[in-house]
Amino acid sequence: MRLPRNPRRAYDADGNEIPPVTVGQSLAEGYRTVMAYCEAHNCGHGAEVPLKGWPADLPVPDMALSLRCSQCGSRRVKMMVNVKELYARAHDAGSSGR
Ligand SMILES: [Zn+2]
Repeated sequence: MRLPRNPRRAYDADGNEIPPVTVGQSLAEGYRTVMAYCEAHNCGHGAEVPLKGWPADLPVPDMALSLRCSQCGSRRVKMMVNVKELYARAHDAGSSGR
C-alpha cells in the first residue's frame, strides 16, 4: 500500500517521507531567509523571504502555501534554500576555524 505523495515533501528511495525542515530549525541553524521561486510558465520570479515572523513549527516547504508570486500572481511557489546564505555560511565556517 502506498500513501499519496505530498508534492511539497521529499521522499527517500523507499518512498518514505523525509521530514521537512521547519522555520524554527532553519533559524536555529543561522538562516535568516529562504528563497521562493515561482513555478509558473515563463515567470520563474525568485524572491528572498525572511524566516522571521513565521510559526517556528511550520515546515519551510509549506511557506509556499501562504505565498503568491509578486510578479505574476501565481500560487505555484516553491521554497528553496537561499544559496547566497549557504555560501556565506560555508565561507565563514572555513575562515573562522571553528
Ligand atoms: Zn510568477
